[in-house]
Amino acid sequence: MKEQLEAIRQKALNELENAASIQDIEAVRIKFLGKKGELTGILKQMGKLSAEERPVVGQLANVIRSEIEAKIEEDSKSIAQKLQAEKLKAEKIDVTLPGKAKVLGSRHPLTVVLDDIKDIFIGMGFDIVDGPEVEKDYYNFEALNIPKDHPARDTQDTFYINENIVLRTQTSPVQVRVMEKQQPPIRIISPGRVFRSDAVDATHSPLFHQIEGLVVDKGVSFADLKGTLEIFIKQLYGEDSVVRFRPHHFPFTEPSAEVDVQCFNCHGAGCPLCKGEGWIEILGCGMVHPKVLETCNIDPEVYSGFAFGLGLERIAMRRYNINDLRLFFENDVRFLKQFD
Ligand SMILES: [Zn+2]
Repeated sequence: MKEQLEAIRQKALNELENAASIQDIEAVRIKFLGKKGELTGILKQMGKLSAEERPVVGQLANVIRSEIEAKIEEDSKSIAQKLQAEKLKAEKIDVTLPGKAKVLGSRHPLTVVLDDIKDIFIGMGFDIVDGPEVEKDYYNFEALNIPKDHPARDTQDTFYINENIVLRTQTSPVQVRVMEKQQPPIRIISPGRVFRSDAVDATHSPLFHQIEGLVVDKGVSFADLKGTLEIFIKQLYGEDSVVRFRPHHFPFTEPSAEVDVQCFNCHGAGCPLCKGEGWIEILGCGMVHPKVLETCNIDPEVYSGFAFGLGLERIAMRRYNINDLRLFFENDVRFLKQFD
């Protein structure tokens, strides 16, 4: 039995010597020291031994068990250390390498200008309202006093989806939608995309942005219109801005006007920015036509209102001295990052 024990010791130590992983070591432990292990098997046969042999063999078995256990402990430790060292080596960070900079975007120049315009009107108590870009002919034209045979339809080259559905050519249909749902007082602006079948050049695009404004209440007069728009323009272009109103015609307002601001580059003397005229056209406006109020079930004998519309691209081009509209839509980051 002593020879058997010696053989087990030799075998176990040899196998541990060749064990390359924690799993291998565990397999050796089960094979020799487990419940059905080889050493355990020997100890179970101790009963067959004589009274003299039993303590001698028992002691030897214990020595061998301790020896194998110590070897297991030692090998496990060294393998764990090796693994840890390999892990550290793999995860090593070179802190002297330059970091990866995060690229932070900027607001689009049209968004910058629109946010400023919204702030000004929110400050005067206006709400901001959205409307659909695919619009019924009724809202885009008819309800705004532009019937099918009206000459104003020729000046707006319209994308028709079918006979009754269009891509909106202006943000004015939002006025009608608001008035249909809400009785006065109404005080809104409605910014958004509009579409016209124009060829692309430095000042035209089939897609551009308008901001529509509408105020309806009892006793609203042209003086309110002038006061509101003068405050808006002075906040946008500076307190010393000079504003003028020129008579104009729109089908949905009566009387109507166009509003110019004195060229802030040459102060009226004439320069390339204002094309030598000394004035820059900013927006169109007027008192809401009684027929439009009637169409929206608002009594023109009780209520009156004014409306205005401006082109966002034009305002942004003037502010940043940009001479080509196409730059806004080309998404060239070198251009876009200059403004925010
Ligand atoms: Zn000028």
